[in-house]
Amino acid sequence: MKIGCPKEIKPQEFRVGMTPNAAREAVSHGHEVIIETNAGAGAGFDNAAYVDAGARIVDTAQEVFATADMIVKVKEPQAIERKMLRENQLLFTYLHLAPDPDQTHDLLASGATCIAYETVTDRNGGLPLLAPMSEVAGKLAPQVGSWTLQKANGGRGVLMGGVPGVGPAKVIVIGGGVVGTHAARVAAGMGADVTVLDMSLPRLRYLDDTMRGEFKTSYASKGNTAELVSEADMVIGAVLIPGAAAPKLISRAQLSTMKPGAALVDVAIDQGGCFETSRATTHADPIYEVDGIMHYCVANMPGAVARTSTIALGNATMPFMLALANKGWKQACADDVHLLNGLNVHAGKLTYYAVGEALGLDV
Ligand code: NAD
Repeated sequence: MKIGCPKEIKPQEFRVGMTPNAAREAVSHGHEVIIETNAGAGAGFDNAAYVDAGARIVDTAQEVFATADMIVKVKEPQAIERKMLRENQLLFTYLHLAPDPDQTHDLLASGATCIAYETVTDRNGGLPLLAPMSEVAGKLAPQVGSWTLQKANGGRGVLMGGVPGVGPAKVIVIGGGVVGTHAARVAAGMGADVTVLDMSLPRLRYLDDTMRGEFKTSYASKGNTAELVSEADMVIGAVLIPGAAAPKLISRAQLSTMKPGAALVDVAIDQGGCFETSRATTHADPIYEVDGIMHYCVANMPGAVARTSTIALGNATMPFMLALANKGWKQACADDVHLLNGLNVHAGKLTYYAVGEALGLDV
């Protein structure tokens, strides 16, 4: 199979769909790999690394789209890319179609077969191609939160770990899933006093058993949440209700109960955010202040560490990419129901129920 990887064109997207290692792996299975020139530059992979892996470099995205049987990307195809998709071509990337009718209509019109990273599942009920980015965003959250807490950035001027004779920062993590667990571990590693809140008792039990001593857990009732938030130097929002917008867990009125200069890091901003005062920001201008409380709400946090994110995503996508290339999408999906769950669009038809429901389209 001919596998093509164009350079990402969404603003401030530095990741790339295939690492040189993924290219090497595909070539070793007898496939031809075509990479747009400088596609990996933002993640620190130069053309030579791909050539060394056995890939061929081409000058334009047009050549990639015109030649490849399968396109491997990171972000959803932009309008100009969607125009280049062909009937019977396979697209393997993040799509997030439910809130995006324009993209959905273009993909249906293209006749291509589109498999979305975010709906591929695993046998534990998890989302294996979303998890690596949640791990990255979780680990970044205390890092960016501690920067936000610095006085020059409008923060409270509190050091995460304190120093001998001065106590540590109090960090509250709301949501103890993939993002929340990684955030809590890094914040605790920085020496902060960390409490994780979740609505799920089984999840709290699991965290308490496995992370004993690293951080505390608390049930996310309104009362507990309000009390802990009022004492916090930093609150990290990490909740997810699958398929739904994030619930608003801190109201604007509650900001006045918080310590001036405290930091809110809303990782759930890509689902609308879990604080009433959250609005999406960018890496170029990541923080803003409301009622004396600093907010960090970057919707694509993993882009800040494009190299780590690219490698982590590549590790997770590689086995699926190889199965699709080795067997063809029909056999690969017939053999693996979890990959089949990733199928969102095929030959002009929507094949993912939740997207159809969200957009009022037939499935
Ligand atoms: P997850 O499913 O692993 O964990 C979510 C947790 O939230 C679960 O444990 C659930 O029980 C808990 N929860 C749900 N409602 C709650 C409530 N009302 N109060 C307390 N806890 C509640 O999800 P995840 O992978 O950790 O993702 C968390 C969020 O981070 C998602 O919105 C995801 O889209 C987002 N995310 C954002 C970025 C970014 O760049 N901003 C990157 C990756 C993930």
